[in-house]
Amino acid sequence: MNASPVRRCVICAKPRHPDFTTFCSARCRDRDLVRWLDDGYALKGSPADPDVPGMDGDGTSTLD
Ligand SMILES: [Zn+2]
Repeated sequence: MNASPVRRCVICAKPRHPDFTTFCSARCRDRDLVRWLDDGYALKGSPADPDVPGMDGDGTSTLD
């Protein structure tokens, strides 16, 4: 019984890579960074912290 869901990249929904916590690759990580930096410029206020889903998970799922 494995109830833990497959954690997917927040950008492209591919399975995440352990080295890129919430992403599948450096490319997606960079894309997200650029995106929220862009938002920061648009809002020009306090930088919203990236609301990362699943940060409190165990992170033990390895998908090879
Ligand atoms: Zn991705």
